[in-house]
Amino acid sequence: VMDGLTLCRMLRSSKDKVYVYFVMLTVKDKKEDVIEGLKAGVDDYVVKPFDRSELQVRVRAGERILTLEKELTAKNESLQRLNLKLEELVRLDTLTGAGNRLSFYETIEKTHHRACRYAYGYGIIMCDIDNFKLYNDTYGHLAGDNILRRVADSIKRSIRMSDDVFRYGGEEMVITLPDQDINTTITVAEKVREGIESMGIEHRGAANGILTISCGVAAFDMEKLENKWEDILENADKALYRAKSAGKNRVCS
Ligand code: GH3
Ligand code: MG
Ligand code: MG
Repeated sequence: VMDGLTLCRMLRSSKDKVYVYFVMLTVKDKKEDVIEGLKAGVDDYVVKPFDRSELQVRVRAGERILTLEKELTAKNESLQRLNLKLEELVRLDTLTGAGNRLSFYETIEKTHHRACRYAYGYGIIMCDIDNFKLYNDTYGHLAGDNILRRVADSIKRSIRMSDDVFRYGGEEMVITLPDQDINTTITVAEKVREGIESMGIEHRGAANGILTISCGVAAFDMEKLENKWEDILENADKALYRAKSAGKNRVCS
């Protein structure tokens, strides 16, 4: 009920991902007809009356192309999977499994824009391990690495799914908390700090003999829309500095 060209056009416009190799058998051998066929998506053509062995050879050529096409599709799919994995890895800190700085910048940028647009607040917690240099000096760098992992894991356990934790610097972690205000952010920071303290990791030389962290908290104030996220981060950093000066193992805001 339809001619070869129409069939070919229909095949080519279908959403089906499987490629159909199309050999057109045609009585027409004028150049324009061939061009029209190729335009419609025909891969090859044989003029009728056709020679059996010629058709066989052309079909075999088509088979080779389809095999290559299948291999290419499989390779593309595996490349796509690898790319997704790579996208993930490029945003992860390899030691702690927390997000890295790139991922922090992307997240805070988004969180801030969302907050401005929908008038939600957000909080930032800067965490810094107390006397960590001394820990390394006492127990060795590898033990120090292990502490970084345990601290990151503990933080992950203390925060919600909607919050994110990133390794900001050597032994500094930063937490972003969308839709929170200063008070709720302080509550989370206290929970995070307590979580580390309650692990009771021995740290000879620290004031109370165990490993602790200090936290600086700041939140985006809806009344001050002119503030940038960099300002909030700076405030959290200043608060952290105060927590250190005030004797460590505490939360300041
Ligand atoms: P404070 O209580 O004031 O924060 O003192 P601190 O000793 O923790 O801070 P300081 O900035 O003097 O030292 C940070 C230490 O963190 C020094 C550095 O060796 C250690 N550090 C940074 N990155 C890593 C890491 O990837 N692995 C290990 N094991 N240690 C690290
Ligand atoms: Mg530090
Ligand atoms: Mg420190």
